[in-house]
Amino acid sequence: LVNRLRPFTSTIFAEMTALATRTGAVNLGQGFPDSDGPMGMLQVARRAIAEGVNQYPPGPGRPELREAIAAHRSTRYGTEYDPDTEVLVTVGATEAIAASLLALVEPGDEVVLVEPYYDSYAAAVALAGATRRVAPLVLDPATKRFRLDVDALRAAVGPRTRALLLNSPHNPTGTVLTEDELTAVAEICREHDLIAITDEVYEHLVYDDAPEGAVHRPLATLPGMVDRTLAISSGGKTFNTTGWKIGWVCGPAELVSAVRAAKQFLTFVGGAPFQPAIAHALRQEMDWVERLRKDLQAKRDRLSEGLTDAGFDVLGTAGTYFVCADARPLGYEDGAELCRALPERIGVAAIPVQVFCDNPDPMRHLVRFAFCKKTAVLDEALRRLRRL
Ligand code: PMP
Ligand code: GLN
Repeated sequence: LVNRLRPFTSTIFAEMTALATRTGAVNLGQGFPDSDGPMGMLQVARRAIAEGVNQYPPGPGRPELREAIAAHRSTRYGTEYDPDTEVLVTVGATEAIAASLLALVEPGDEVVLVEPYYDSYAAAVALAGATRRVAPLVLDPATKRFRLDVDALRAAVGPRTRALLLNSPHNPTGTVLTEDELTAVAEICREHDLIAITDEVYEHLVYDDAPEGAVHRPLATLPGMVDRTLAISSGGKTFNTTGWKIGWVCGPAELVSAVRAAKQFLTFVGGAPFQPAIAHALRQEMDWVERLRKDLQAKRDRLSEGLTDAGFDVLGTAGTYFVCADARPLGYEDGAELCRALPERIGVAAIPVQVFCDNPDPMRHLVRFAFCKKTAVLDEALRRLRRL
């Protein structure tokens, strides 16, 4: 294995899911839903397979999907993208992120991440031969919410910084960045002429009590940002289709055509029959998504209350389907140790937050639980957690 990939031989999700399977634990670790998306969408996929949509789709993605993505960004956020030149379909958001970095960042360049960061970011930066610089989210003990350390973000930008990779709603903390925070990020990008890559896979999972209401605001909608931002999302979290791996990236034609150059030699294309199904869902199933959001909000509350009853100090979650909890009131200082022991001891799997950090210390005691599960599954996990 090449040196630059040595730190990335396994992922925490694979490790914890394998442990959960081996021990029969309730898996609140890896974030994937345990129910299917809208029936109409599933029917479109079935029909597409039956009708022979089974060969390579066009390189940029099937036109009806690119058109649906552009229409969705336009009606939802007011940003206009040309489906032919400014939208690219990818194999999940994961490929969109990796292809963006491979296409736009030279070896030796720097990429700024906000930590804790989703695990694929560091690996993708390494694949591109670049170096990551990080700025933290900082927990405000009074509100139990994280905020972006804007000064640290500014300080992380140097002369070799080419891009900033931002995730909101944020995995693993559930933070939804505020307008002020986004404004500061946009200012930094403009000042230093950075490309912004925004991971918006949880764009529709923002809850009513989020700081500025249940809205996601894409960075590309801020002044001067649409021309320097690659906005990435995927169908996985919005339509309960994490296994379909239909993602996309929207941005100015010049940047998107660069991403396409990298993407065509990574996977060429992906998932033909799923593309018309996600196109259908973006156009017809947003009411279903609103019901999903409400359902997840109730599950968030149920899990948060249950974890509090079990003795955790639970942090606020404004978006995504994750709750982070401090295990110190239960006597556990190290979340990684706890997560490695939990499946065997009480039959629950969770994810330690420190593994998403270059500087793990402030996050050492935090554990992430996923609530995108059936109520009975959450209740069973909580019943077991009360034995801690
Ligand atoms: N970004 C974040 C923040 C995620 O949590 C995930 C996991 N769903 C992804 C990207 C990957 O998305 P996809 O499955 O579409 O590749
Ligand atoms: N995004 C999911 C999570 O954070 C898992 C994705 C994966 O297994 N790589 O739990």
